[in-house]
Amino acid sequence: MATNTVSRTLPRALKRARWTASTQQTRRVATAAAAVDYHDPAPAYIPPPPPPTNTPSRAETIRDAKPFSAFLTDTHARQHDYLRISLTEKCNLRCLYCMPEEGIALSPPITQLTTPEIIYISQLFVNQGVTKIRLTGGEPTVRKDILELMRRIGDLRSAGLKELALTTNGISLWRKLDSMVEAGLTGLNISLDTLDPFQFTLLTRRQGFDAVMKSINRVQEMNRAGANIKLKINCVMMRGLNSEQLLPFVEMTREQDIEVRFIEYMPFGGNKWSENKMLPYEEMLAMIKAIHPEFHRVPDRTKSETSKTWQVPGFVGRVGFITSMTEDFCGTCNRLRITSDGNLKVCLHGETEVSLRDLIRKDHGGEPMDDVAFDAIRQIELDRRKGMNGELSGGEEGWMSKERQLLEFIGAAVKRKKERHAGMGELENMRNRPMILIGG
Ligand code: SAM
Ligand code: SF4
Repeated sequence: MATNTVSRTLPRALKRARWTASTQQTRRVATAAAAVDYHDPAPAYIPPPPPPTNTPSRAETIRDAKPFSAFLTDTHARQHDYLRISLTEKCNLRCLYCMPEEGIALSPPITQLTTPEIIYISQLFVNQGVTKIRLTGGEPTVRKDILELMRRIGDLRSAGLKELALTTNGISLWRKLDSMVEAGLTGLNISLDTLDPFQFTLLTRRQGFDAVMKSINRVQEMNRAGANIKLKINCVMMRGLNSEQLLPFVEMTREQDIEVRFIEYMPFGGNKWSENKMLPYEEMLAMIKAIHPEFHRVPDRTKSETSKTWQVPGFVGRVGFITSMTEDFCGTCNRLRITSDGNLKVCLHGETEVSLRDLIRKDHGGEPMDDVAFDAIRQIELDRRKGMNGELSGGEEGWMSKERQLLEFIGAAVKRKKERHAGMGELENMRNRPMILIGG
């Protein structure tokens, strides 16, 4: 076993959690998922060795020395180094605030990005300086090839990707979690709007509370074994529906090292938003302070943090607020979004979209890119980097100009990004996709 690898005995002596660190902080937690008993007590814990000093790799050093990509910088000097990719329109829940009551008609499968297309787009953005990719949906875990996708996106660490995160409803996460961490998962946002199993069914129009809790418990168990997954619970607060859950969620942070984030309810196509149902940040603060008068603001983790972080003194965990409706965070926005049908969306609340899919497929007679086409492009790129090519052949030139075209197309869309999104009053009347078709 490598010297920087620690193994420990987990329940039934069948699971092994390994924490392996490379200079790029690559982590592996391997367990035999089939043998897990989630009710076992926490395993004896042997702390992992301290991570090695975070010496940048040669690729990172070269990259950091370069100015940030002009294509991903907008006219307000915002540098977009965070990409959110929606993997599917499908979902195994029907949350009231996300899915129109009548449901959504699924788009024909051919309209959805293929795995090679998602990898190609991810690679394109990482090469331009994106350091964080979040996979979302719909429900990303229902995509059949989610693990292969995560492995291939995880491989982009060698090109500069630092974080691979997932936003999920947690229903089937626990089954796939170990392999996801193995693939390079570094962060998880699990959506849960109530701690009451009966209310869960009302809010999501489906069963599944126990499965979500099982996923949360499993993440925490893996973190105790050194997996170091950043875990947040996302909770959309709606007056008169789940607002009485605010304090139970705060209570959860008393002993658990967890961040619960309350999200202001936002209007999207077909979700019957009303201002009255939205519980604003200030009101949530007042409700918490009435019970915990010492509740106070703590420093946010990053300058582009969308969440305002608070804590009850003496509590281990933290509470975040995502105040998109009452106090936007447009000034420091560093995100871009790709919808599952391949549209680039520069703002969550903007209706403007451009299709990267159509441009990628243009010279393929509109056909989706498959692995054969993907491998051919990769080979061209590898050869080019090795300087093996001499002259470019017609096909190679075609693909490189395709990359240039895509970057110019992306750059033009980024330059059109507005300084801030519309405010309340306007937002509810704007046309936008239902949230399930955007990816939160
Ligand atoms: N299915 C996954 C999940 O639920 O986490 C990922 C997709 S979901 C669209 C992403 C996030 O958007 C979730 O945390 C969800 O709570 C949030 N969301 C959906 N509709 C919303 C709305 N109308 N207002 C605020 N947040 C919303
Ligand atoms: Fe599905 Fe997530 Fe939307 Fe709920 S919030 S319906 S889990 S996509």
